[in-house]
Amino acid sequence: MKRSLRTQMLFQYTAIVIICMVVIPAAISRLLDFQMRRFAEEKFLEDRQEMAAAAGNLYRFSNSWEGVRLGNGANFLRWPIITVTLYDEEGHAVHSLGRGMGKRAHSKDMELMGDSMTPHGCRIIDEPITVGGRVVGHLAFKCMPFNDSREGVFLRRFNRHLYIAMAFMLVTAVFIAFFMAERISRPVLEAARRARLISEGKYRADTEMNSDITEIQTLTDSVNKLASALESQEALRKRLMSDIAHELRNPVTIVKSHLEAFEDGIWEPTPDRIKLTVSETDRLSKLISEVGVLYAIEGENNSLVFENANLSEELERSQLTFAPLFANKEVELVGDIEPSLTVSADMGKLRQAVENLLSNALRYTDKGGKVILSLKSMSSNVEITVKDSGIGISKSDLPNIFERFYRADKSRARVSGGMGIGLAIAKAIVEGHGGTISAESTEGIGSTFVITLPKCRKA
Ligand code: ADP
Repeated sequence: MKRSLRTQMLFQYTAIVIICMVVIPAAISRLLDFQMRRFAEEKFLEDRQEMAAAAGNLYRFSNSWEGVRLGNGANFLRWPIITVTLYDEEGHAVHSLGRGMGKRAHSKDMELMGDSMTPHGCRIIDEPITVGGRVVGHLAFKCMPFNDSREGVFLRRFNRHLYIAMAFMLVTAVFIAFFMAERISRPVLEAARRARLISEGKYRADTEMNSDITEIQTLTDSVNKLASALESQEALRKRLMSDIAHELRNPVTIVKSHLEAFEDGIWEPTPDRIKLTVSETDRLSKLISEVGVLYAIEGENNSLVFENANLSEELERSQLTFAPLFANKEVELVGDIEPSLTVSADMGKLRQAVENLLSNALRYTDKGGKVILSLKSMSSNVEITVKDSGIGISKSDLPNIFERFYRADKSRARVSGGMGIGLAIAKAIVEGHGGTISAESTEGIGSTFVITLPKCRKA
């Protein structure tokens, strides 16, 4: 059967409270009762033997019970004795002492030897008196029941106070348990409610979730983080879809309208116009092929083919390839490449990642600027850095630049030909190699992109 967290906790707390505050004190009370009875019994046995010895001494004096009176030489009425009667060896009563009888109890000849009980619950205990190894008489003690004894009264009083305290503590503890269950379950239930709202697509919190319990605060913080991560993923997905649609629609519309204009004779198909139309189809096919590359790397059938290759040589090759493009724009390209560094990688794809960084550096660095491509060996990694003195990236854009189709400044990027996919491809390639890619940038100063790759690839 499913129960709410609050009920469950209340049950559990109450069970603990009952064990601690009822079962344990009850056990202590039983133990105390047992021990006190035992103690009283042992003490009484000692007293009886002492009294029998004292009576034996009285007998020894005249070698008979003639004129012997209890109370001479010893206290024969110790607790819990009500009456004590001295019998001679034939069972004739010699003398009696009793409480509330002026120390003289009613005495009659002994009818019954041995221990017995009176109808009022009093015990009669027989203690033989021996002198010189011979039984010369008996002391018969009539004792009050344990419950009426001083120990019994003390125990009853103790138990009464204990039970009152137990009842009071029980009620208090159940109240505390209720508040504790409420305090713990409320934020957990709230977190569960938030999680349900998140699953329904409501990412924004309608209430503050705070708790002074670390684990619960961690849980609520995680739910909040999950909500904002999902919200930004959802926003990204929507933007991605609209970006793809937009990216495809623009060149298709342009190509279509140009072709229709040529067909209708509105536009002369001059070489410039044909070139413009072709460049739009290029843009279209580039976009489609880049989305394809991204899918191939990110998709289940990871298309990377690893081999041991000289990364230094590959980067020098990339530098050579880009040198004329940089020279054309009058941007200096400097190589700081540590020689003969070998890694296990899909070199074609890795070069594509680095070249995406280089073409961005070129694209976003103005004439007269400088770009440094460096390769360094670290302890277990290699680090490829592309550092430019370009326009930089704003703090608000920096966390998003590796997202697909994210362009820091859409109009600027469109003019510069960027489609916001180059860094997403670079990131997918680097991560496919078990590495990381990161960026630091200051607007107006420049940007630095760092790729870190493990020297040995984990299987
Ligand atoms: P794009 O094809 O638009 O360059 P990227 O994914 O390569 O797409 O880059 C995403 C965005 O990051 C770019 O639109 C640009 O605003 C910014 N960016 C990337 N590299 C640089 C750089 N070196 N300098 C300044 N901005 C950059």
